[in-house]
Amino acid sequence: MNKIPIAISSCLLGNKVRFDAGHKQSKYCLNTLSDWFEYQPICPEMGIGMPAPRPPIRLIEDDDKEIRVVQVDDHSYDVTDELKAFAKEKLNELDDVCGYIVIRNSPSCGMERVKVYHQNGNPAGRSDRGVYINEIMNERPELPVEEEGRLQDPKLRENFITRVFAYQDFKDQVKVSPSVDALVKFHSRYKYLVMAHSYAGYKKLGRLVANNDGLELDELVITYEKELMQVLQKLANAKSHSNVLYHILGYLKEDLAPAAKQELINVIEQYRQGIVTLIAPITLINHYINQYGNEYIAKQAYLNPHPVELGLRNYL
Ligand code: SF4
Repeated sequence: MNKIPIAISSCLLGNKVRFDAGHKQSKYCLNTLSDWFEYQPICPEMGIGMPAPRPPIRLIEDDDKEIRVVQVDDHSYDVTDELKAFAKEKLNELDDVCGYIVIRNSPSCGMERVKVYHQNGNPAGRSDRGVYINEIMNERPELPVEEEGRLQDPKLRENFITRVFAYQDFKDQVKVSPSVDALVKFHSRYKYLVMAHSYAGYKKLGRLVANNDGLELDELVITYEKELMQVLQKLANAKSHSNVLYHILGYLKEDLAPAAKQELINVIEQYRQGIVTLIAPITLINHYINQYGNEYIAKQAYLNPHPVELGLRNYL
């Protein structure tokens, strides 16, 4: 399998590009995800010509309450426009990437909760996004973006990686050669994954594919892509997963002997109660599909949304 192109804050790969000429190497990104992801490292501050080391910069609120990025000790040194221009320039090179991993608290790269200061140096009591990543996220709202620190949380980690793999699949199967048929086939495979993340989203996407909402094909594909990536951003939980597992059981029950069916129900219930992890019922379902076959369920992205080697469904 070809590795998935992913943009990443350069310092997370161990490059000494930070203001103190240090790095913030992420072992998880470097040692684990690199088996699946092909990284495109970007340091916007170095990209606009700032040196390493360099005086630190921060977000401040100007007189019009606009956010500016300035040097902490010299507010006349303002790199806001340069960082925005650099983001616009980079967007052309990010067409292929299926995700972006950033670092928290950076006035350039932080995707949320970056502290904003008053011009007198006091905290402004608000936070915002880093100026560079804000431009990227506004222009590419469908792109999965996550902070490296949040990838330590198993739910957020699985959610981000699910979105990355789904996004790449959508690009490969639909965007590369758009057609209504390709979209219908894609949606058919993603029904249960979408349902696990949001039942309302599942209904909405189903209606969009069935009725096209009077949209031309290009517009339909873009609308579906945005909706899909928004829906997948919602966290699935034990209740929504159990609901999907019972739906899948409904397709298999004709083939299963009563004891096998009961065994699957028991494992789904153990999962719902937090006794076993999600991988337990999923493994059993995959086993029954291999044994009895079920074309429709076998092709569901829900059963294998990301490589099993990543162990992303092994948390309670
Ligand atoms: S600008 Fe971004 S990539 Fe560069 S050092 Fe700061 S956080 Fe890392």
